[in-house]
Amino acid sequence: MNSRQSDSGGVISRTEALNKISNEPLDVLVIGGGIVGSGIARDAAMRGLKTGLVEQYDIAYGTSSRSSRLLHGGIRYLAQGRVGLVHEASVEKSVISRIAPHVSDPLPFLFPTYKCPPWGQWALWKLMIGVKIYDFLCGGRNLGKSSWFSPKGLLKILPGINPDKLTGAVRYFDGLTNDSRLVVDTLRSASNAEAIILNYCRAAEPQMQDGLWHCTLTDTLTSRTYTITSKTVVNSTGPWAEHFDQSSVKLRPTKGVHLVISRDRLPSDDAVVMVEDTRILFAIPWGERMILGTTDTDYSGKIEDVKVEPEDVDYILDVVNASFPSAKLNKADIISSWAGLRPLICNGKGGPSDISRSHEIKMPEPGWLDISGGKLTTYRLMAQQSVDKLESYLGRGKTKCHTADEPLLNADEAAKASGIIPLEPSKELVEHYCKNEWAIHLDDIMIRRTSWTHYRTDAKEIAQKVADWMAEIFDWDDNRKAEELLNAAYSQLKTDN
Ligand SMILES: Cc1cc2nc3c(=O)[nH]c(=O)nc-3n(C[C@H](O)[C@H](O)[C@H](O)COP(=O)(O)OP(=O)(O)OC[C@H]3O[C@@H](n4cnc5c(N)ncnc54)[C@H](O)[C@@H]3O)c2cc1C
Repeated sequence: MNSRQSDSGGVISRTEALNKISNEPLDVLVIGGGIVGSGIARDAAMRGLKTGLVEQYDIAYGTSSRSSRLLHGGIRYLAQGRVGLVHEASVEKSVISRIAPHVSDPLPFLFPTYKCPPWGQWALWKLMIGVKIYDFLCGGRNLGKSSWFSPKGLLKILPGINPDKLTGAVRYFDGLTNDSRLVVDTLRSASNAEAIILNYCRAAEPQMQDGLWHCTLTDTLTSRTYTITSKTVVNSTGPWAEHFDQSSVKLRPTKGVHLVISRDRLPSDDAVVMVEDTRILFAIPWGERMILGTTDTDYSGKIEDVKVEPEDVDYILDVVNASFPSAKLNKADIISSWAGLRPLICNGKGGPSDISRSHEIKMPEPGWLDISGGKLTTYRLMAQQSVDKLESYLGRGKTKCHTADEPLLNADEAAKASGIIPLEPSKELVEHYCKNEWAIHLDDIMIRRTSWTHYRTDAKEIAQKVADWMAEIFDWDDNRKAEELLNAAYSQLKTDN
């Protein structure tokens, strides 16, 4: 690793960030650069706490770049009677649309209903009541107003849908986001508030000594180690949350897979809900693409090895083809795919889809905060509650949380490099990601800054260009460039079927 590469990250240089984080005690050390850790770093820094965040791989490497990209209250949780959870998430989806409009678009959902089982459990009359409650739980300010359709009305706007025993449909509104951009932009906001952000740095061996937490930090780009001290530590490591001795978290991780196809293979302006037994899946319009998913199966393998298996692909294609019989989708239609792990709290009962999506915040040891479960949609609230707890432990008076009012980025910053639909590749953009958004490897740009890997049919050619530009920016030699391209291809294989 040459000096420019190790100097490449973020608004302040990586060397400066490493010096700062290891030189004097922090108030808050956040471990984990997913959406939850990022939200906490932003909130803590905005309240004036001396904050550092460390991420072992790239920002949003974990679950937070592998979701369905929805800002949702969770209509299915309403059917399970989890009204509190739906209300909480419904309010938060509106908050995100206010503070980050560039990564939040209203998205209408069509939920067709049928006479026969299993669709019978989602009877039209029940859903007509359900969607009105859903609007109401958003404080009457949902992202759009719900409505319903007769079978004829639905077939007019969604001609490909299976007409057999169709009884009609409801339309309700949630939001579409860009999960990894939401993380990066939250961290840009945290960094603007003076939080120190470091990716490719793994925290280990936390120990309390003389009233301060000591953690070993390994810079995985150089293998150098540092000691960081902090008054508090936040364990926001998602699926990895059980891995520290101090952790009180017990997880039941479940795997979810998504496939991306061309939108013209399943034309719809609305997202479509598809029922399979007791589960629901979605077809989600994303620019020129349609995202299909997701699965929900228990997972016990190594976290880093989670991948799309042939049976996941068959399952999703079967469900979609049952809903849209004339589409006849097959493996050749798949442009890209990804697999992620839901860090769900273990409650020991029921099937994977029955596990609660609510979050838990605990302080099992003085100054050590575990935060687990929850959803992308509720990250800001999770952060607010966590920082309230940290302030109380630190003995400061409770300060006001401003994260629901202050935009993540100003409109110019947001339009330049972020958004839901991937921007056109350019050298200028790549320079921006390397200099201001902590991008270090080719994958950081191709997957988590831009989604080009998942969206573009010419992703391979783009990767080659981006590697050339990064080589100029970081002085990579030919070997390094080849290695980056190989790793990018490998990681694509890991997420491809
Ligand atoms: C298939 C699927 C679909 C989903 N869809 C939605 C959706 O549409 N809407 C929604 O609201 N929610 C959705 N979710 C849930 C949501 O994505 C997760 O709840 C959320 O992303 C979890 O974020 P996190 O920060 O807790 O974990 P992560 O994003 O996994 O972040 C944890 C980070 O900690 C890092 N880390 C671990 N150990 C260390 C260490 N020792 N040192 C430094 N760093 C470390 C990891 O590398 C990782 O990046 C979905 C989840 C899945 C799996």
